[in-house]
Amino acid sequence: MAVATKRAPQKYAPFARLLSSEHEELLDRLGDHREAVLVERVPDDTVGLASRTLLEDLAIGTLQRDQQLLREVEAALGRLYAGDYGVCERCREDIPGRRLKALPWTRLCLRCAERRQALSLN
Ligand SMILES: [Zn+2]
Repeated sequence: MAVATKRAPQKYAPFARLLSSEHEELLDRLGDHREAVLVERVPDDTVGLASRTLLEDLAIGTLQRDQQLLREVEAALGRLYAGDYGVCERCREDIPGRRLKALPWTRLCLRCAERRQALSLN
């Protein structure tokens, strides 16, 4: 590990900002969802129960996706300050800026991500 990587490198400053604002937004959204899921839980007839349950399922699905994303964003912020950001976890190659712009929290370069997806589909 190089010595000059103790703080977020200047070239990744835009991604630090992107990740921080995504982080805040997710925390906001997760707060809202938690409330929505808790507040809407008052079904007392069968039709209401069915539709409420569907809405709850949707809300919980979104909640779980947001929580997963939050973990990824937090991990990316951690890597940013550890000086490990923008490096593929598998092949240790630099992840191209274009991919980081599309997915600032990604851990893998496109090649490794595609390889992993191909493996998990088998
Ligand atoms: Zn890779």
